[in-house]
Amino acid sequence: METRKRIYVGLLGASLLVMLALFSLIWFVVSNRDLVLNQILLITLAILAIIMISFMGIGIIAMIIMIVRSRTIPSLETISRVVNEWLFPITLLLGKALGIQKEKILRSFISVNNYLVSSKSGIASKGKVMILAPHCLQNSECQHKITVDVENCKECGKCKIGDLKKIAHEQGAVLRVATGGTLARKYIKDTRPKAVIAIACERDLSMGIHETNLIPVMGVLNCRPNGPCFNTDVEIEKVNNALQVMSKGG
Ligand code: SF4
Repeated sequence: METRKRIYVGLLGASLLVMLALFSLIWFVVSNRDLVLNQILLITLAILAIIMISFMGIGIIAMIIMIVRSRTIPSLETISRVVNEWLFPITLLLGKALGIQKEKILRSFISVNNYLVSSKSGIASKGKVMILAPHCLQNSECQHKITVDVENCKECGKCKIGDLKKIAHEQGAVLRVATGGTLARKYIKDTRPKAVIAIACERDLSMGIHETNLIPVMGVLNCRPNGPCFNTDVEIEKVNNALQVMSKGG
């Protein structure tokens, strides 16, 4: 087996062994409750579980309070972000088990994220906001290399890249068009924006929001009248609104 495959398969096997060891330990401790050492272990496990559950509870309650008050609580932002990160895959699994469409859950996640981001004040000053657009927004017949430099767009009106370029110029934002996550990450690393307005589908947006969790990201969903990843569209009004929110304190 190649090294690349060996790493993943090896980690899968190791995960199974860790789970087995954990279950065996719990089984041993529970079935030998009379031993003093096991009683200590049981109490330790119970304390750890209480700490974890309390931590997650505080994170979720903090998020609910922030949504209700329409204002962030800076001291609780990190804990709610970490809890959100941990519980995100579980919410997707639970949603699947309950028959809730994955896209619906992702849309709800993006909407909560946008709400929390918009409730912050003074997010970024002019010139520090990046609009990150997907390459599929460009008209498929256009020959101009806008991923290299968006200034190559001639604003012919056949797609929304020209409009995005216009509002980016007007509002002093940086516009970048990325072909995928790797290029998007490179743009963020090179430009170091204080805030990002990302345009993408549900899946890419939620992944992007998770990955760039130290920079506020406002997600704007694209429209896909021609199916996924081909001649997509975006409501410029929504991008404009996001720009106003991001620059409100700057
Ligand atoms: S608006 Fe710009 S990117 Fe879109 S088709 Fe015209 S020149 Fe190409």
